[in-house]
Formats: sequence, structure tokens, C-alpha cells
Amino acid sequence: MTEISESLCRKGYRLTPQREAVLKILLENPNQHLAAEDIYAMVRKSHPEIGMATVYRTLELLSKEKIINQLSLDEGNCRYELESQARYHQLVCLKCGKITEFNDQLLAEMEERLAAENKFQIVGYLLKFYGYCGQCASAEG
Ligand SMILES: [Zn+2]
Repeated sequence: MTEISESLCRKGYRLTPQREAVLKILLENPNQHLAAEDIYAMVRKSHPEIGMATVYRTLELLSKEKIINQLSLDEGNCRYELESQARYHQLVCLKCGKITEFNDQLLAEMEERLAAENKFQIVGYLLKFYGYCGQCASAEG
């Protein structure tokens, strides 16, 4: 949190209570890929005065400053996560561009093993498989 607040300060932004509340939700829910609506609902519990517009503006600012990632996982439905927690496992269709998020327990195990074997602190990764989704594959015949 301090790191993030310092980085915002350097860029001339202030960490307002609203911005901090939004960040806190993302910090407390790692790898959840929260939608703006989810974040709004959670923030409201501690900060009932915050409006949806403020949450959107904050998310916009934070993604512009690369503090959080904006993921477009499905049509028009943006999800957010902290930059340092980025873990992508996606199936990318080369024809229609559809991106499917998948999760596999094996990846978590592999990450742990790689970290231990290499004494390497892993903070994120990007794993994409390219190919054709079921729909496109069957359209091809
Ligand atoms: Zn496809």
C-alpha cells in the first residue's frame, strides 16, 4: 500500500480515502478479477458515501498509471486486478479472438516449485495457448 501511495504521489496524485478504499478491496481479494460492480458493492460497505462514478474514475486512473490491470475477459465486461498479482492463463482463439480464462491447480503447484527451486519470488505470469475455439473449429469442418 505504501509503495502504491508513493508511486501515486510521484505522479502528482493524492491517495484520497476513496482511492485507498478501492485499492484496499483489490489488495484484499487477490486474483479475483473483480468487476467494477463487485468493487463498488464491497467499497460501499466501509464507505457508503462513494458513488459508482467515483469507483469508475478511480479504476480508470489506477489502470492508466499501471497500478492495476484492466482485463477484458468477456464482451464489454472489464475486470480488474493489481498489476503485481497478474496471473493469466488464457486460451486465445486465433479466428474470433475469444479469450477463455482457465485455471488449473497444476499451475499453482508449478509456480511454487519453480519459486522454491530457483529461489525466485514470482509475482505474476502470462500463459497463453493459441488455437481455435470449439465454435471456430467446428465451423472450419
Ligand atoms: Zn473462435
